[in-house]
Amino acid sequence: MWVNRFLAVSAAEGPGLRSAVWTQGCSIRCPGCFNPHTWSPRGGEPVTPEELAGRVRAAAQEHGVEGVTLLGGEPFDQAGPLAVVAARVRGDGLSVMTFTGHVLEDLRSAGRADYDALLDATDLLVDGPYRADLPERERPWVGSANQRFHHLTPRYADLDLTTLPNRLELRVRPDGTVEVNGFADPATLEQLLDDA
Ligand code: SF4
Repeated sequence: MWVNRFLAVSAAEGPGLRSAVWTQGCSIRCPGCFNPHTWSPRGGEPVTPEELAGRVRAAAQEHGVEGVTLLGGEPFDQAGPLAVVAARVRGDGLSVMTFTGHVLEDLRSAGRADYDALLDATDLLVDGPYRADLPERERPWVGSANQRFHHLTPRYADLDLTTLPNRLELRVRPDGTVEVNGFADPATLEQLLDDA
């Protein structure tokens, strides 16, 4: 499978401390997407599902992450190998949060064993395409108000989205490059990058 970026530990990509995997390749291509560099199915880093699950396991041991967040690109474009990753992560007692630009009803009705396997190994699903005309102002982690949270297991049933902060993480590398993750509106992001 192909991965655009792996981050061992983040406090801005779901509940608690989590590893995050940005997959390479997105067939949905929402207008205004913040990650167009992930659209091409070519590029990124080739990894095996076993290797990726091992990185999350190591992050749990070293950093105390409680799970992994799969985001895009479009995770369901690589649903088969990601289902293997997710099942292994869950087998280690960790949680799985998955973002998708599809809607859950379409994933369920597609009749695809790989889609079903990834849904079966996901605790918390965020679905729906990014809509630049519907900016999200309240809930954490999502970019537009049409996107929905689905509790596919009881793991995060008590999550109160109204009280959780929306975090943005900036990392400045020794070579001066800046890495950003989390979500902010474009004006806030521009101001932060100017100050970085
Ligand atoms: S599904 Fe996600 S990565 Fe793909 S175009 Fe939409 S916002 Fe961008």
